[in-house]
Formats: sequence, C-alpha cells, structure tokens
Amino acid sequence: MSELSSTLAAHDLARHYEGGAVFALDGVSFEAASGEVLALMGPSGCGKSTLLSLIGLLDRPTRGRVMIDGVDLEAVKRPARFRARTIGFVFQFHHLIPTMTLLENVAAPLIALGVPRPERTARAMAMLEQLDLQARANFPPHKLSGGERQRGAVGRALVTRPRIILADEPTGNLDTHNGETVVRLLADHAHTDDALVIIATHNPEVSAVADRTLLLRDGKISAIQRRE
Ligand code: ADP
Repeated sequence: MSELSSTLAAHDLARHYEGGAVFALDGVSFEAASGEVLALMGPSGCGKSTLLSLIGLLDRPTRGRVMIDGVDLEAVKRPARFRARTIGFVFQFHHLIPTMTLLENVAAPLIALGVPRPERTARAMAMLEQLDLQARANFPPHKLSGGERQRGAVGRALVTRPRIILADEPTGNLDTHNGETVVRLLADHAHTDDALVIIATHNPEVSAVADRTLLLRDGKISAIQRRE
C-alpha cells in the first residue's frame, strides 16, 4: 500500500487544542484499505474521537495530513459535500431526528446527494429491510427500542453506501446482544460493499471482529494488532 493507493492514509497527524497542555494526537501515521474493519482502542482521552474527527473532516489537524483515495483533505474545497458523499458516521447515541419517522431519518442523507424522493424512499426501505426494521418504518424514534434506534442510525450511515464509515463507541449504549448486532452490520458493510470501517471503542468484542486494532496511548499509536 502507498499513500496514493490506499483508501485512507494518515501521515504524522497531530492535533493540539487551544489551551490544552498536551497534544490530543501526536505523530499518528497509518494506512488502511477498503474492505477492512479497523478498531481504535485505548483509554479515555487517548485521542480516538479526535482521530475520527480529523478523518471525517469535522476538524483540521495542527500538523500532518489525511488522504482519502489519494486526495489530501487539506485540499478539499467543500468539506460538507465531500463528507456527504464519502463518509458515514455512527455515534454512541443515535441522534435520530425525533420529529421524523425512522424511514425519513434513514432517507435523509440522500437529500444532500440530490437523490429524488421516490428513490430515497425505496433505498431507505431496502436498508430497513436489511436491518430487519421494515415493520418500524413509520415509527418515530421514541417508539423504538434502544437497539432498534441504533440499528436505524447504522442504516442512516450506510444508506449512501459510503467508502468510509466512522463509528465512535457505537455499542457504548447497548446491551451485549444489540452491540453484537451493530458490530456485525458494520463489519458486513465493510466486506460486502468493500468499504473501510473504523470503530473507536472500549468493547473488546469489536477488536475480535476487526481485521486490525490500533492501540492509542497519549495521542500516539502504541501498537497495531492484527487478528489471527
Ligand atoms: P478519546 O476519544 O480517546 O476519549 P479524545 O479524542 O476525545 O479521546 O480526547 C483526546 C484529548 O484531547 C483529551 O485529553 C481531551 O481532553 C482533549 N480534547 C478533546 N476535545 C477537546 C477540545 N474540543 N478542546 C480541548 N481539549 C480537547
């Protein structure tokens, strides 16, 4: 793999927050390929969320660079548009919009891509079927269980078929069974859609599924473990 051919390349990435005593990330370099599931692990405050924010164009590095499919993110003129096309996000809390049905929530990211309404509805419905949530399509989020809401949030992230999925503690608010389901859905997406899935987590079961686990400590990569 080289920086130009890999799906994701981080080179000497560093982020210092205003007023912070230390670098939240400091000299992080790695490459990752499509079809891969990568776990980010390490104690709270080690820089996992900061790294996801830099990869997802939600924040800019103090030093270093991120390349996605050979494009240096520094050169991206319209980050929101790039993000909508390229990246799906899953967070610890579902962030579904309470006034919209599950179907409308899952269809919403397709609006930014200019997909016409009938196709949006069809694609969101197909997504809900994959997630076994079709019977819940017209429910508002508050009528769903915690596991259903988070599966819905996964559907919203996957509906655009993004090249990269960034998940920040996606199982942190779920019981073991629902957590396993969410991890399996994300891993299936990596393998069937040839996407890169990066999951920041404290959950050891995620690293059991991940192809590689990057261990972070004090903003640096302390080890990279490959699944046997
Ligand atoms: P993790 O996701 O591994 O818990 P974070 O990336 O959230 O770690 O945080 C890394 C370090 O950066 C921590 O010391 C945290 O306190 C600090 N940090 C994170 N976000 C900010 C911010 N917006 N402003 C200042 N410091 C921050």
